[in-house]
Amino acid sequence: MRYTILGQTGIKVSYLCFGCLTISPLQRNLPINKGVDLLVYAFDMGINFYDTAELYKTNEYLKEFIKLRPRQDIVIATKSYAYDARGAQQSLEKALREMGTDYIDIFLMHEQESDLTIKGHYEALEYYLKARDKGFIRAVGLSTHNIRAVTASIKYEGIQVIHPIINYKGVGIEDGGIDDMLEAVSNAYSAGKGIYAMKPLGGGTLIKDRQACFDFVLGLKNIHSIAVGMQTREEVSANIAVFNGRKIPDDIYNKLGQYRRKLHIDDWCEGCGNCKDHCGQKALKIIHGKARVDEKKCILCGYCGAKCPLFCIKII
Ligand code: SF4
Ligand code: SF4
Repeated sequence: MRYTILGQTGIKVSYLCFGCLTISPLQRNLPINKGVDLLVYAFDMGINFYDTAELYKTNEYLKEFIKLRPRQDIVIATKSYAYDARGAQQSLEKALREMGTDYIDIFLMHEQESDLTIKGHYEALEYYLKARDKGFIRAVGLSTHNIRAVTASIKYEGIQVIHPIINYKGVGIEDGGIDDMLEAVSNAYSAGKGIYAMKPLGGGTLIKDRQACFDFVLGLKNIHSIAVGMQTREEVSANIAVFNGRKIPDDIYNKLGQYRRKLHIDDWCEGCGNCKDHCGQKALKIIHGKARVDEKKCILCGYCGAKCPLFCIKII
C-alpha cells in the first residue's frame, strides 16, 4: 500500500481510504461483527484511513474496530452538519463517546457548498479549531460536492483537509463539470490542503465502468487519498490490487461479478421527480413524496443517480 502525508496535517494516510457509508445502516447494513471483520481485514491489508460521518451511524463499528488494532495506527475522518459552537461540541462529544476514543483524526464540516455556507458554519469551525488546539482533533476540514467550496476553502487557514467529489463523468458535482472541479482541487492542493477524493465510482452509478473510473482517479496528481466504499473482502482485495497497479486476480474478479447490485434511494429524497423523468425504463415512481424503484424494470444503468440534485440514488 502506498501512503502519503495529507497536505500540511502531518497525518500519514493510505492512498486507498475505506469509505464506511457502504457498510452502514443507510446502505448494506452489515451486522456489527461482519462490518468490524471487514474493517480489520482492510487494516491488515494496509488500509489505515477510514472515512465516516455522524449521518452514517457507523460509530459502533469503529468503536469495536479500534479495540482490535492500535488506535495510533488508524486514521479516522468524520463529519458533522453542525453550524454553531453548541452543535459542534455535541457532534464532537458524540463521536468521541460513541467511538470510544480520546481524539478524532480529521473532523469535517459536512457538505459545504460555497464561501457563504462556510461563513454560516464559522462558529462550528472555530469550535473545531479550539478542540484541535486542545488535542481532541488532529485536523479540520470540509467535504463538498461543490467547486465553489473547494475554491473558498483556500483562504481559510484552519481548513486543512478537503474531501471533494471526483469521478471521470463529474457525477454529483453540483455547480459545474469535472474539469472545473479538478482545477479547483489543483489550486487547493498547491495551497497545501490535504485532498482525499470521494465517490470515484459516482456513488456506484458508474460501477459498470469500474476500470475507467479507477484509471481516471489514479491518474490524478493532486490527490493524497481516495475514499472507496467497500462491502466485502473481495472488494477490498480487488481495490488494493487496482490501487497498486496490479490485475485483479481471476478468482476475485469472478466473485465480484456474482454480487447482486441494487438501486438504493436514501431517505433524504425530497420527491422532486427529476430522477423519474430521466429513467428510460420507467422504473421510478414518486409515492408519498419519495422516489421508489420497481426492481423488475430497473436495469441499473445509473442514469437517474446522475440527475438527483441531492445525490440520493446509488447502486450498491
Ligand atoms: S431526484 Fe433525488 S430527490 Fe428527486 S425524487 Fe429522485 S431521488 Fe428524490
Ligand atoms: S438505474 Fe436506470 S433503469 Fe434503474 S431506475 Fe435509474 S435510470 Fe431507471
